Amino acid sequence: MTTTISTSPTSCGDPVTPTPELAERYADVMGRIADACRDAARRPDDVTVIVVTKFHPASLIRDLVELGVRHVGENRHQDAAPKAIELADEPLTWHFVGQLQSNKAKAVLDYASVIHSVDRASLVGALAKTERDCDVFLEVNLTDDPGRGGVAPDELDALVERVLQVPSLKLRGVMAVAPLGEPPRSAFARLRILSERVQRLAPAAKDISAGMSSDFAEAIAEGATHLRIGTAITGKRPTAP
Ligand SMILES: *Cc1c(COP(=O)(O)O)cnc(C)c1O
Repeated sequence: MTTTISTSPTSCGDPVTPTPELAERYADVMGRIADACRDAARRPDDVTVIVVTKFHPASLIRDLVELGVRHVGENRHQDAAPKAIELADEPLTWHFVGQLQSNKAKAVLDYASVIHSVDRASLVGALAKTERDCDVFLEVNLTDDPGRGGVAPDELDALVERVLQVPSLKLRGVMAVAPLGEPPRSAFARLRILSERVQRLAPAAKDISAGMSSDFAEAIAEGATHLRIGTAITGKRPTAP
């Protein structure tokens, strides 16, 4: 363990100073996002950066807020819930990006206002039953393996129709994780075509949640509006408890 020498006066109640490493990684990623937007002739304002903080402590999220982060992503309810309660005073939007069991839908909506991983009609039903307002992305499976997360592309239209029947749900668009064993750019190009298909049924659902630490530039090139970036900003993740 190294100790950080701080020259700023500290007293109880002062905001904690984020570690220089965290600030540097955040600045570096934001710079690379700006470069990728320039290369794609897109406005950085059209891209929302969600920092995925899964398994990290609440203190790291407070440091991120100090750096200007306003969107955080979590993928496990039991890990996210206590942090969201502890950080209820922070100006944060919580995004749920992981596999979501229907019986946890209500509890997750206590803190999350955006669900990126809606992948089946039964989950839409569970979200509807809560009668809570919520933004949703439909997670699409870009692999040929039905065991992977996400709705199969040929079942996407039916899921769109199902979400459109629920007044409390606002359909934002599509979400995907780039498959292994394929260049991410071509996978994200397929996602962009699926996004266009969704917009024929739901013209307002223009958003695309794609791009992680290793492939956000490719996602920006293919129109991603919501990046979900973890380790490139947070550093190595503690292992799952
Ligand atoms: C963990 C996770 C991310 C972030 O992954 P990194 O490679 O750390 O950037 C993004 N999306 C989902 C769904 C995740 O579970």
